Amino acid sequence: MDTLPTVLLRPGEADRLIAGHPWIYQGSILRLTAPAADGDVVQVKDHRQRFLGVGFFNSKSKINVRLLSRERVEIDQTFFETGIRAALAVRQRHLPAATSFRVVNAESDFLSGLIVDKYEDVLVVQTSSLGMDRRKPEILAALQKIFSPRAIVERNEMASRKFEGLPDANGVLAGTFEGELIVKLNGLKFFTNLLTGHKTGLYLDQQANYQRVAGLAKGGQVLDCFSFLGGFALHAVRAGAARVHAIDQSAEANAAAARNAAENGLAEKVSFETANVFDWLKAQTTTAPHEKLIPRFDLVVLDPPSFTRNRASVGDALRGYKEIHLRAMKLLKTGGTLATFCCSHHVDANLFQQVILDAAYDARCLLRRVAVFTQSPDHPVIPAIPETEYLKGFAFEIVR
Ligand code: SAH
Repeated sequence: MDTLPTVLLRPGEADRLIAGHPWIYQGSILRLTAPAADGDVVQVKDHRQRFLGVGFFNSKSKINVRLLSRERVEIDQTFFETGIRAALAVRQRHLPAATSFRVVNAESDFLSGLIVDKYEDVLVVQTSSLGMDRRKPEILAALQKIFSPRAIVERNEMASRKFEGLPDANGVLAGTFEGELIVKLNGLKFFTNLLTGHKTGLYLDQQANYQRVAGLAKGGQVLDCFSFLGGFALHAVRAGAARVHAIDQSAEANAAAARNAAENGLAEKVSFETANVFDWLKAQTTTAPHEKLIPRFDLVVLDPPSFTRNRASVGDALRGYKEIHLRAMKLLKTGGTLATFCCSHHVDANLFQQVILDAAYDARCLLRRVAVFTQSPDHPVIPAIPETEYLKGFAFEIVR
């Protein structure tokens, strides 16, 4: 272990690491005691030579070192087995009934650069750092030992891989698998294609919120905007909504959602429409002179994609969020509920709520906040690592 190249940090740069953050940027590094190859394991010490941990080195990435352990451990199959078992235990504690969930969420589970999703008996792996990508054999061996899955699939088509000098990759790494699978979320069935679907297949981060939002739907007229495969829509129907209408701009997603509705025996009470939500809401809230808009929904769900990938476009994103909230409020009956989510890391909960309040002012609505949402517990939030928190949501009742 002492033969590992050592990364020495500048004075003051160790604090963040000691607090729990695993990233070391180039600017924090004083020097390397020996040359390190990209993808290699290095040890990290502060400027007084105090040991801080071991991690993957990559000079090509803005993040030069991703810390993996605060102990002097080998990064081998046993290391991955221990880390993955610890992550799995968190899921078993907080999502005991789930059969599909994110097993490893990178920094959230102290395995920067590794994501593992479990979809029933199939695992989907993403490796977004060079060091992690090189250790795929050890990671696969660890996953085989813990889960004995039917297949392990790789979905390595993320933009973040480019920053590490890694090419796109997609395919079956172990076992045999065609791609199509029925995934169960809270006992509801969802067809998904793990080789071609969005992200790693389905959005697992809303699993807990599907249940909570559905609890607000009983007996009501529900609108699910940005519905994708119908997660909120189908949970709402099962929970006793009178009628659910879902909007997504992807005809393919809507076809899959309709198939999901039929598979679950819920098709009668739900409809899926292919449209741009902005245009649809505008058309529904635009009235002729002297015509009064009659609100007709008891629950509106807004779960858009991230409108901003960087800080520079936050302004545009906020205008987008404000517009859909304003129009959604106009469609909600007094006493109805708006359940709304924001998955942009650059818009925090305070800013998100402020935008909603701006929209409420324009709509002359008074809101009562009745629920606060976050990402499902299989995407753990580590407050010392702010990047691990991205999904926030609220439910507001329209007081008047
Ligand atoms: N609520 C979903 C996840 C939504 S992801 C779930 O729980 O699974 C975002 C979805 O928004 C995608 O399906 C995408 O097709 C859709 N989308 C993005 N921009 C849109 C727009 N302007 N109008 C309608 N749908 C849009």
